[in-house]
Amino acid sequence: MWSYEPDLLARPVPRYTSYPTALEFGEAVGAEDYARALDRVDSATPISLYLHIPYCEQICWYCGCNTGAANRRQRLSDYLAALRAEIALVAKRLGGRARVRRIAFGGGSPNAIAPVDFVRLLDCVVTVFDAHRPDISVELDPRGFTAEWALVLAAAHVTRVSLGVQTFAPHVQRAIGRVQPLAEIERTVAALRLRGIDAINFDLMYGLPGQTLADLDETLDETIRLSPSRIALFGYAHLPSAIPRQRRIDAAALPDAALRFAQSARGHARLTEAGYRAVGFDHFARADDTLAAAASRGAVNRNFQGFTDDDAAVLLGFGASAISQFPDLVVQNEKRAGAYRGLIGEGRLAATRGVVRDGEERMRGAIIRDLLCAGRARLEPRWIASARQAMTEFERRGLVRWDADALVLDADALPYARLVAAGFDRRRGSIVPAGEGAAA
Ligand code: SF4
Repeated sequence: MWSYEPDLLARPVPRYTSYPTALEFGEAVGAEDYARALDRVDSATPISLYLHIPYCEQICWYCGCNTGAANRRQRLSDYLAALRAEIALVAKRLGGRARVRRIAFGGGSPNAIAPVDFVRLLDCVVTVFDAHRPDISVELDPRGFTAEWALVLAAAHVTRVSLGVQTFAPHVQRAIGRVQPLAEIERTVAALRLRGIDAINFDLMYGLPGQTLADLDETLDETIRLSPSRIALFGYAHLPSAIPRQRRIDAAALPDAALRFAQSARGHARLTEAGYRAVGFDHFARADDTLAAAASRGAVNRNFQGFTDDDAAVLLGFGASAISQFPDLVVQNEKRAGAYRGLIGEGRLAATRGVVRDGEERMRGAIIRDLLCAGRARLEPRWIASARQAMTEFERRGLVRWDADALVLDADALPYARLVAAGFDRRRGSIVPAGEGAAA
């Protein structure tokens, strides 16, 4: 049973899909650092690729992604040409020293492009990179998904897809500008399974305008019946000053903090009772899914796509706003699609901001990852005194405990995991290794 601690939950903390987070990216780091990091990649390093398609057929009001309307075909085709050019540019820089194990298409909506363009893009990747039977995953918008797309995905050996579902409640769908009848999701799932693609993720949301506990229960009922192999249950973050399209959402209809907490707790209870394994603080995996297997091995990782079984040390992102990660560097491409095309057109790498990770930042990142992914982190002796002091209040409330040199999250402390992890964040927490002063 989760305990509700409103004073703790009132403190905003990052989601830590990277550490340092994207808020810490600066313009002093960019294309030259990216080029040097590519040069350091050796031929034994497994690599994952991420291709960003920043277009959607219809724009949802709640969406915080870097995406725009796919209504201008010329713009789309210019973007895809730039994406192929960037892939070729990076592959050339690597000079064949990359073993690609995974390729992920995200966005936006990769199915906003034509199936033939998707195939061309994938062909481009497997032609220039050493990619032997890679795992291929694709994010899909079920609205307008066709049997032709299912056929193309299967023929391209796509192994996993993720569907934007969010909610099945019609009145909530209207309130967030994303109307998609249950029958459309059923048709999409059936079309994928008919073609042998059963590794299907549903993205769901709580904290939506007008959403009640009963609405969430109904969505969970349908989800459990359709039995996707993974589910991500995210809390909606209303930030209209940073995300102007969210201004169309009625802020007065949003659930309050107590109801949001109850919705998150209900989602966790219902999905785990239905046999899903909770992974991290917002993912759930069926027992036969590779993410559940990774959780059993203690091998869950966290990157920009959330909790994952991908353990590649290097992730290369392609496209406007795409992020690339190396052990000692995180860089992000130019966010604006037009400016991104301009850089690539000049034959330049498009990374325009980022952050370097020194040894201490890597250590902090590993502790944060372990706490979020595995619920426990072993600390080197020099961190323990400061961490014990910083964790006193969490310990008093029964949210964490110590197991020798390991900090352990209580099984019912998931809603507070990011808050505990933030204690190790150099910019937000107070924990410092012995021999150093207070955090900046
Ligand atoms: S389809 Fe997905 S990426 Fe596109 S606007 Fe809607 S939520 Fe955002």
